[in-house]
Amino acid sequence: MLKVFTMSLAIMSMAACSTFQTQRAPNQETKVVLKDQQGAKKEAPEQATSNGPKEITRVSPEDTAPNTQAKEMKEAVAAAAQHIQSTHDQHPREAGPVPADKAMGWLKNGNARFTKGFFRNDGAKAQDRHRLATGQKPHSVILSCSDSRVPPEVVFDQKLGEIFVIRTAGQALDNNVVGSIEYAVSHLGSNLIVVMGHESCGAVKAALSSLQGADMGSPALNALVADLKPRLQQYASTTPSENVAHESWSNVDGVAKELIERSAIIRDAVASGDVKIVKAMYHLESGNVEWR
Ligand SMILES: [Zn+2]
Repeated sequence: MLKVFTMSLAIMSMAACSTFQTQRAPNQETKVVLKDQQGAKKEAPEQATSNGPKEITRVSPEDTAPNTQAKEMKEAVAAAAQHIQSTHDQHPREAGPVPADKAMGWLKNGNARFTKGFFRNDGAKAQDRHRLATGQKPHSVILSCSDSRVPPEVVFDQKLGEIFVIRTAGQALDNNVVGSIEYAVSHLGSNLIVVMGHESCGAVKAALSSLQGADMGSPALNALVADLKPRLQQYASTTPSENVAHESWSNVDGVAKELIERSAIIRDAVASGDVKIVKAMYHLESGNVEWR
């Protein structure tokens, strides 16, 4: 049975940074009181995504992942401040406060919440807009398809300021896409890059038909599928797999590889050990994100 809890909490959040210059996050102080419907106090985890007194209603007491993410954010900020201090002289970029592995854990937890229908209520209120108005520090960059069924903020249950998203049909690459990822990595401190495809991708299907000689009907559409075609060449004469799943994975694999090849900024960031590129596939029916 679901219980509804009301949390009253006050948090001093990390100060937002300049858009073009990262800076160490200040110390945070957290005071949290959690009450159930009868008013009995309970222990509550910190919510680093909050920055002032607020009311939060949780849909399930078992769904602790949102609070886990917030608490870990606070810990990550402190750890990153120490890390930046110790490595500033060696690396041209300053790693953001959230290590890649932790960011990936948050995305996995968020996807689990999405599939269960338990969404965070924090992180999207006026005070959050105010906190983020002067800067951002997204923990992850996500390159995904523009398909209306695959919005990363929804399928990962992430809120304002938390993920930097680039979407093109079929994750098609061009300099604008690569440059956008470079910007997040080099200026915003994002340490995780996710390349996410999905089942039944129309762009992948179009590129497969293009391999058979089909014309897409416009120069722009032909250019889009032309970017995908080399990554699907091995399927030029085969029967498409169910939901073009194999072909979509091949596209994702190729995009991740090309990001390294095309971008010295991304390549150096990965080589530094701070930045990771991970590959993912979204399943339309289950809502699950599969990782590689
Ligand atoms: Zn698609």
